[in-house]
Order: sequence, then structure tokens, then C-alpha cells
Amino acid sequence: MKTALITGITGQDGAYIAEYLLNKGYNVLGLIRRLSARNIERLNYLKIAGDVKLIDGDITDLSSIIRVLKKDKPDEVYNLAAQSFVGTSWQQPILTSDVTAIGALNVLESIRLTDPSIKFYQASTSEMFGKIKEMVQCENTPFHPRSPYGVSKLYAHWMTVNYRESFNMFACSGILFNHESPIRGLEFVTRKVTNSAVRIKLGLQDKLYLGNIDAKRDWGHAKDYVKAMYLMLQHDKPEDFVIATGRTSSVRDMCKIAFDYLGLNYEDYVKIDKNLFRPAEVEILIGKPVKAEKYLGWKAEITLEDMIKEMVDADMKRVKG
Ligand code: NDP
Ligand code: GDP
Repeated sequence: MKTALITGITGQDGAYIAEYLLNKGYNVLGLIRRLSARNIERLNYLKIAGDVKLIDGDITDLSSIIRVLKKDKPDEVYNLAAQSFVGTSWQQPILTSDVTAIGALNVLESIRLTDPSIKFYQASTSEMFGKIKEMVQCENTPFHPRSPYGVSKLYAHWMTVNYRESFNMFACSGILFNHESPIRGLEFVTRKVTNSAVRIKLGLQDKLYLGNIDAKRDWGHAKDYVKAMYLMLQHDKPEDFVIATGRTSSVRDMCKIAFDYLGLNYEDYVKIDKNLFRPAEVEILIGKPVKAEKYLGWKAEITLEDMIKEMVDADMKRVKG
């Protein structure tokens, strides 16, 4: 039986990959930071909280990671922990760098010091492309991050590449485009829209305030994307892969899907709040996942329409209680 350690197990992707690995027969460990109240709602949502072993630790604390690696000897480490919200990264740039950039280095360095044969997955992001240099982005597209989050992730990405090249470690970086689900954080635009549309439908809210609704993203479903993480660590050699659907849609298009599904016209409810515009925007992202398809046999399966409807249904259930 293989053992996997997931940092960020309480997050969206952490919960889905834990479920995926449990189904594959893995012994699943999750690093969980100490909070005054335990935050395992997503693990409860997927009904797996009792099936994973949660271990106290923080990726900004090197010794806590070394302790876990020495004691529990995982075969694979999925580093998903991060301050992952772009908006917050301008408010808390130093914390974002400590967690999202140096945190990843702490995990890499712990593996190097403890057992360099442990396989490592780094959660990289399409935000590293930022001000895009090519209309469609692939593994060779130059980077130009546009936020402290993007810059921190780029540092972690290059450290992953560097540890692979310097120490021959099985370290992979998955450059994942936006992926969502019913357990996406409420601050991200898809979930903000599905949750608000439901509340408007139920008469609990009048308007939905958004920023730049002309921004375009290549949105996929987290459930599809965690499979790619697993496949990267089973590939015969460590490499980096772009994971995307290959289709881009605007925030406006996504609003239309959610409101239409509820029988509402989004134009009657969505209002623009200039305060929600970002200091520097990533206007458009669209990925080319050809390498993943060729070498991992991976392809996105769930469409944006089906995902948004699933999110609306889940929010309807939650809001109605
Ligand atoms: P979430 O924000 O849902 O989850 C982040 C996780 O990191 C949470 O479990 C959080 O714990 C944990 N965490 C934060 N700080 C620390 C710390 N100091 N020590 C230990 N754990 C910590 O993110 P997602 O699941 O959406 O994303 C997973 C990863 O993939 C992230 O690294 C993200 O940046 C990256 N990514 C995500 C994309 C997406 O579209 N979802 C796209 C590309 C990359 P807590 O619950 O305690 O806050
Ligand atoms: P990101 O791609 O990781 O930044 O994911 P988000 O879901 O946070 O944002 C996606 C896009 O939606 C960005 O271009 C945002 O500027 C845009 N957007 C427009 N209005 C909002 C809003 O109210 N909240 C968020 N989070 N994003 C918004």
C-alpha cells in the first residue's frame, strides 16, 4: 500500500485528491495547520474525514514537515498548501510569499534532507503566465506573473525544476489552469456567482457586485484536475505539464450560465464595483494540454456548463439548509 502526504488537504483540491487516492487504495495523510477550530468541512462534504490521517504541521515550519516525513515515510507528497487567492496576495504579499513560495521550498528541502526518493508534486498555476506572451499557453510559454501570488508560485515552480535538475529528485510541477467545484472557496468568482445567484433566486440577496467581468479564464473541474496530479507522479520521468480544457470563457459568460439555469437574467442583477478591479489584471488565459493528453492520457471531461449547474445545485441545497 502506498502512502501519500497532502499539504493543503483541507482545501478544494486537497479534499478531491484525498478522495481519489483513497479510492486507489492509498494510505492518505494530510498536513493540517493548527487553528482554534478545526476546518474539515470539505473532507466532511466528500465523507472522507474519517478515512484520512490528519497530522499537525505548517509548511512555513520546516521542522514540522521533516518530522512527518521521518515518522510516516510517504511515497508521494502533493504540495497543495498555499495562500491561494490572488486578491488577498496584494493585501498580504509577505505572508503570501512565506507560504506560497518559501513554503514550497521548505517541503522540497525536507524531502532532500530526509529521503530524496520521495516523489513530489508542486501545485503551479496558469497565473504564472499572467500578461500572456502567447495566445494559447503551453509548457514552453514564457512567464509574466501579475500578482504577488503569481510571483510566489513562479518561485516555487522554478525551485521544483531546480531540485529536479540539481538533486535528481522526482519533482513535478503541474501548471493547472483555474478549476472549480461545489467546494471552491466563496471568494473565487465562480463560487461567488453560483452562491449569489441562488441567494437572489431565493430572495435573500438583491444584487451581485463583481469587478472585471470581461476577464476570461480556462475553467475546468477540480475532480478532473486532481487525476492529472496523480498521473504526473506515476509517469516514467518527472516533468512539468499544463493542465487545462483548451476553452476560454468570460466571467460574463459564466454568470449567464448560472443565472439562466435558475431562470434569471444576469443583466438584471450583476452590478460592477470598481473597487473589485485588481491592481494588475490577468485578462485572458487559455491552455493547450496537448502534452498531458499525449503522455498521461489525460483530458478534461466535465464542461463549464455542467460544472456551473452542479455548483448551483449544491449551493441551492446548502442555502436552503
Ligand atoms: P485552497 O485555498 O482551497 O486550499 C489551500 C490549502 O492550503 C488549505 O488546505 C489551507 O489550509 C492550506 N494552507 C494555507 N496555508 C498553509 C500553511 N501555512 N501550512 C499548511 N497549510 C496551509 O486552494 P485549492 O485547493 O483551490 O488549490 C490547491 C493548490 O493549487 C494551491 O496551491 C493553489 O494555489 C493551486 N492552484 C489552484 C488552482 C485552482 O484553480 N483551484 C489553479 C492553479 C493552482 P486552511 O484550510 O487551514 O486554510
Ligand atoms: P484567479 O484567476 O485565480 O484570480 O481566480 P478568481 O476566480 O479569483 O478570478 C477570476 C477572474 O474573475 C479574475 O480576472 C478577476 O478579476 C475576475 N473577477 C471579476 N469580479 C470578481 C470578483 O468579484 N471576485 C473575484 N474573485 N474575481 C472577480
